Amino acid sequence: NRPLSEVDPEVAAAISAEVGRQRDTLEMIASENFAPRAVLEAQGSVLTNKYAEGYPGRRYYGGCEHVDVVENLARDRATALFGAFHANVQPHSGAQANSAVMTALMEPGDTLMGLSLAHGGHLTHGMKLNISGKLYNIAAYEVDPDTHRLDMDQVREVARASQPKVIVAGWSAYSRQLDFEAFRSIADEVGAKLWVDMAHFAGLVAAGLHPNPVPHADVVSSTVHKTLAGPRSGVILTTEEFKKKIDSNVFPGHQGGPLMHAIAGKAVAFKIAGTEEFKQRQERTLEGAAIIAERLAASDVAQAGVSVLTGGTDVHLVLVDLRNSELDGKQGEDLLHQVGITVNRNAVPFDPRPPMVTSGLRIGTPALATRGFGATEFQEVAEIIATALKPQPDVDALRARVDKLAADFPLYSGLEEW
Ligand code: PLP
Repeated sequence: NRPLSEVDPEVAAAISAEVGRQRDTLEMIASENFAPRAVLEAQGSVLTNKYAEGYPGRRYYGGCEHVDVVENLARDRATALFGAFHANVQPHSGAQANSAVMTALMEPGDTLMGLSLAHGGHLTHGMKLNISGKLYNIAAYEVDPDTHRLDMDQVREVARASQPKVIVAGWSAYSRQLDFEAFRSIADEVGAKLWVDMAHFAGLVAAGLHPNPVPHADVVSSTVHKTLAGPRSGVILTTEEFKKKIDSNVFPGHQGGPLMHAIAGKAVAFKIAGTEEFKQRQERTLEGAAIIAERLAASDVAQAGVSVLTGGTDVHLVLVDLRNSELDGKQGEDLLHQVGITVNRNAVPFDPRPPMVTSGLRIGTPALATRGFGATEFQEVAEIIATALKPQPDVDALRARVDKLAADFPLYSGLEEW
């Protein structure tokens, strides 16, 4: 029972350095967040020792009486939070959840219709190297070339032409809300099932700040670690009709023993997501993204060839369009890294540059909102990013401003021994 620092100083040092990185820089990767201490405690608990194949009350191992309590809490809280009939809280990740959804709803060779990866979709929605693209026939819909928004008439046309078995609505890089009612009507028209992947915006839905897909979809999948700020993992919400199919496609379809420590973390995260404090955090998340979008759409930034896709945002992220800028996505990402802000380069629709370079940046506000940032701090962050993306930025001066923000909002305070 010796501590990590004694047993494995190399791993301990890397963890400690990572804590330092998270504390000293501004995390603006749209899919990341800071899990609360209570979630970290649950995830670091002895529940990692327990095998519990099966579901609560019907396990293939003895000694599951306590983990059953935990899984039932996670399921009950998830269904209550999103108004769903049933929740499967066992998927190890978002991609695992999506694989189980696909095998539950389709046979190999059936047609899956999803948003093109190049236009903001996720690789599990039909990318050719992913299992989704290998097992299924893929029909992709795209954003409108002028507005960069989804045009539901065009989505309907793709559905009529391809007659998909399943339509997936969801994204990894799109800055507007989806019209779930329109997706439902298109799915009904062509006899498809509707699957919504709300991995990115689940926290906003939980807070009542984004339309809830649950009343419209047959199945809803999500990660738990993005806006929801829980442990890295997945969850699937289903109607009564698909409960059994989804459960059997997660276990034994895709997975063996559930990660009970992660499920405990999910239970805690779902509890927190029902609080007023969580709602306020999501409000600050949205406010921060709107502030950044507005600043980066201003004329001084436009002069440098930098603009905001769709002209703004309804969600927790901003997509910066660098197609007319001297900077490409890679250079923009590196520059902000030097300033102390972590973002990721991201292809924009119709991107002329290759995927490892790209012409875009995806900038998200969930982690900084969790850190406590409000409008004043997001205005300062927006100014720093705007200055960095204009010609000849003074990187040292910008880094000093980032250092001050990071110092003013200490991360995991009280846990300095980490
Ligand atoms: N679905 C969407 C829309 C995502 O953005 C992501 C993650 O980026 C996933 C699924 C996959 O989640 P994970 O990385 O946990 O497999």
